[in-house]
Amino acid sequence: MSTSTRSERLRLAVAAGAEISRALAGDDAPQVIARCVAEALDAWRCDLWEYDAEARTLTATARWSMEMTEADRAWVGSVAALAERPGYAPIIEDGRCVASAVDDPDLHPSDRAAMLASGEVASLMVPLHYQDRGVVGCLRLVDKREDRRFTAEDCELVTLLARPAAVAARNARLFRLQEQQNRHLASLLDTARAITSSVTLEDSLARICRTAAEALQTGQCVAYEYDAELDAVVCRASYAAGGRSRAVAGADVYALDDYPTDRVILERGDVAQERISDVDLPDDSRAWMEQWGEKACLHVPLVVEGERLGLLVLAESERERVFSPAEVELARAIGEQAAVAIRHARLYRRGERQNERFAALLETSRVLVSSLDVDAVLGGVRREVAGLFSVPGDDVTLLLRRGEAFVPFEPGLHAAGADRPAVELDELERRAVEDLVPALADGHDSVRIVVPFVAGATAEGLLGLRASHGDTFGDDELELLQVLGSQAAAALANAALYRKLERQAITDGLTGLYNHRYFYERLNQEIARAQRYGLPLSLLMIDIDDFKHFNDRFGHPVGDLVLVEVGHILATDIRAGIDVAARYGGEEFAVVLPNTARDGAQAVGTRLARQLSELPGEPPPANDEGALDVGERIRATVADSALPGVDPDTHITVSIGVACLPGAAGGPGELVRSADKALYLAKRLGKNRVEVFGD
Ligand code: GH3
Ligand code: MG
Ligand code: MG
Repeated sequence: MSTSTRSERLRLAVAAGAEISRALAGDDAPQVIARCVAEALDAWRCDLWEYDAEARTLTATARWSMEMTEADRAWVGSVAALAERPGYAPIIEDGRCVASAVDDPDLHPSDRAAMLASGEVASLMVPLHYQDRGVVGCLRLVDKREDRRFTAEDCELVTLLARPAAVAARNARLFRLQEQQNRHLASLLDTARAITSSVTLEDSLARICRTAAEALQTGQCVAYEYDAELDAVVCRASYAAGGRSRAVAGADVYALDDYPTDRVILERGDVAQERISDVDLPDDSRAWMEQWGEKACLHVPLVVEGERLGLLVLAESERERVFSPAEVELARAIGEQAAVAIRHARLYRRGERQNERFAALLETSRVLVSSLDVDAVLGGVRREVAGLFSVPGDDVTLLLRRGEAFVPFEPGLHAAGADRPAVELDELERRAVEDLVPALADGHDSVRIVVPFVAGATAEGLLGLRASHGDTFGDDELELLQVLGSQAAAALANAALYRKLERQAITDGLTGLYNHRYFYERLNQEIARAQRYGLPLSLLMIDIDDFKHFNDRFGHPVGDLVLVEVGHILATDIRAGIDVAARYGGEEFAVVLPNTARDGAQAVGTRLARQLSELPGEPPPANDEGALDVGERIRATVADSALPGVDPDTHITVSIGVACLPGAAGGPGELVRSADKALYLAKRLGKNRVEVFGD
């Protein structure tokens, strides 16, 4: 170089200019420019930067060096903010040519340090002007040879070459923008497709991550969902071009208290860039980036209508870079789609859970409200709970309170008034009974829950359920079980109350026998049944003898006790569940004896057998005893029984009138009148005796 003359160098420059102009149409124009300029000036290296005035960033467009290394090639494409490169400001902003050397006393210490660090001895920076657009880039020539300095003459030469270089830089930029725009449009289309074609949120986010990482050419992208309850972000999906990702989907949860920068980003809702060399980088971000070897990050908050949904983080580990406004815009657009995906998934999850819940509640309420029968209530609860938690019905255990104890529920048994033996409650069940809230126990491979059926301040029943894993019982599920539990309790109480009222409505309060009204109802039914099957039926009318006198002698309360005693005799002296004993009124009683003739009823069995095959329903069983025998037995028992509240020698007697069908004609009224007539006869004939109508 030292031997070359000014004219020779001009010739070289002209030749270089011609070569550059020829190269402008090709893809490799920037590379040709860098080489031609370096060769024309005999420089060690030439860099071509393209400047984006809008983003105020510099993009490394081409580099030629006497010793091209892998790092030199990788450098192409890197982006730097002008603000971070103060040494470029005079060239870009003022359009000046700047020559520097490490031994230049005016050199800024930081620039000197940078030059020394990369072994540079001298540099020359020349702006690239493009028509009326001002500075569109710059050329930077570097030399590492000890005695090399750039002169004003060098500056003049490069300026000559700068015009075609500016065109090349401009073309490269347009080409890149076009390409980028195509890529961005394609990636947006991709993310939209990811959302509509993926089944799960994780699927769509995984595809969105991949698309974003590829479109923005970062090695990694991770999608986090914000969990308000935990005040944390949870990794839902990630993509890493080569190997290990910064987060594991589903497993990694980051409390925002530990990551204040992420919290700020989420709250502000603005895309944020982070670069490892930024001196203002917050501590939490720096620690994280250092841990994962990340050099630049783009944080995209996922916020829709003020609802914080998550974060999309693009991470670059290869090289530090500045994301251009177009890239930030693309990231934001992809983020919007990711936010929509999360929002849809949430609405869907919520909707699905609520639907199930409401359906279960509705169904159970329907059963519970409509039913006053314990079998239907508990059967409904068992079915709903089993369905809701996808377990077999047998795995849902049900216990019912009986006084202080609990008995297992068994369909059919309670309706019949029977019970299984009481069971001893285990620890968990006792806790549910005492605390009146669901009790949970974590086993090593399953979780058991016991839900009390709470009515007032007591547990009327217990529901037990086992699930294979703890997630089954979230807050929603617990709440639902509790609601079901209290509904079941209310339904059980309703059923019990209803049964009680039902019993009261047909029972005589003093004796516990059926009352007058129910007597007639049953008499009607039994007469109809007897006529349907062609069976006999007998009616006893029973009246206590001289009861007025008894009352006068012992007092009305003692008389009441006697009525109770007679009631007890009647109830125990007849066929349980077949004959019907009732207090007819005052001190008069009535007993209906289905399929009972005046005398022993052998003939009835045969007749019954004949009828059986042709008629629906159950006929009453034949009575071996005749009605006369039954009446006589009752009369004798009463006469012999010791009476409460009176001396042992005092007894009462009853007179009994019997009427039988067929024989006595017609309906219930007539049958009662016939029996009354027989009773009147018994009184007339001296009391303490049984008379049959029609004898
Ligand atoms: P008879 O042998 O003719 O039947 O004589 P009696 O005194 O029993 O006469 P009647 O059947 O006409 O009288 C009914 C009496 O029964 C009148 C009443 O004092 C008594 N009585 C009716 N209902 C009750 C009751 O609920 N409690 C008591 N302690 N006495 C009753
Ligand atoms: Mg009477
Ligand atoms: Mg009487």
